Amino acid sequence: HDILKVDSEDLELHFYYQKTNDEMVSNWKRLQDDTADAFRYINKKFGKYPYTKYSVIQGGDGGMEYPMATLITGERSYPSLLSVTIHELIHSWYQMLLGTNESYLAWMDEGFTSFAQNITFNDEFNEIYNLNSINPLERSYNRYYTFIKSGLEEPLSTHSDHFSTNQAYGVGSYTKGAIFLMQLGYIIGENKLFKGLRRYYNEWKFKHPDEYDFLRIMEKEGGIELDWYIDYWVKTTHQIDYSLELNKKDQNKISVSINRIGKMPMPIEVEVLYEDFSSENYYIPLSIMRGEKDNSDNKLIILEDWEWVNESYQFNLDMSDKEIKKIEINPSGEMADIDKSNNIIEFE
Ligand SMILES: [Zn+2]
Repeated sequence: HDILKVDSEDLELHFYYQKTNDEMVSNWKRLQDDTADAFRYINKKFGKYPYTKYSVIQGGDGGMEYPMATLITGERSYPSLLSVTIHELIHSWYQMLLGTNESYLAWMDEGFTSFAQNITFNDEFNEIYNLNSINPLERSYNRYYTFIKSGLEEPLSTHSDHFSTNQAYGVGSYTKGAIFLMQLGYIIGENKLFKGLRRYYNEWKFKHPDEYDFLRIMEKEGGIELDWYIDYWVKTTHQIDYSLELNKKDQNKISVSINRIGKMPMPIEVEVLYEDFSSENYYIPLSIMRGEKDNSDNKLIILEDWEWVNESYQFNLDMSDKEIKKIEINPSGEMADIDKSNNIIEFE
């Protein structure tokens, strides 16, 4: 077996594999520096791994996480070998060190791991994985949109052993659990999300936190109330769907309505694109947040709160000398709006 010392992280990586053929050997050699890079990145982004050893061991079936080790089947393509290795080692953070309940809170285990895995791919290995850097979890969102059409979705709060189908467990825990974090970044702001994730790890490692311990950290970090987010996203299968509607356009102003079609309320971002391709971003907080998303870079024009019980919200845009080309809700795609066909108004 091979040993790679990663001095900067005070870490020794061990790789146990069988030298079955040349491709196998070359993949497992290539894996070693990439695993070291992954540890460097994850330590910085999500909090420092506290032990001095980690082992990647050929064996088992598929990939499985253990404390300080993973067992994975060895004869795979390189992208698959690296992907499974990174997924399983991130479980050292999201489950092993935090010790959340794997049966009741699978979405905080598989979901948070899948999120961190995609963020790591996007920032460190995107020449292999080609993720959309505006929304690195775009493929997870698409998997969720496709799955919910089956009608088999169950709330994330379901006990792992009691989902009616494997798919509902899989898409719920891995996919919708990962979107939980990406979408939380949309709600509180990306910087606050990652600061919050590090703080959560540093304050709660070895202490078995539950979903509300996580939520309290994010509320403190984000400065807004978030209980509604777990109430809807985790405890129900309510969906998000907003539409944009043009009421009136004259020389002085444009009047627009946003309609809440889905049962789950969300804060809304609206991008106004002008003919010269400059843009402005409007933001409508939800009243139940009792606060607003991080706007320290002043990129958002903050509108009045949306009372979440109301199904519709109107606002006006004053016409300037620049012609408006397009108005769009959720331009980043980070809000899991299930129907994008009604999110845009385009002007001739
Ligand atoms: Zn996993």
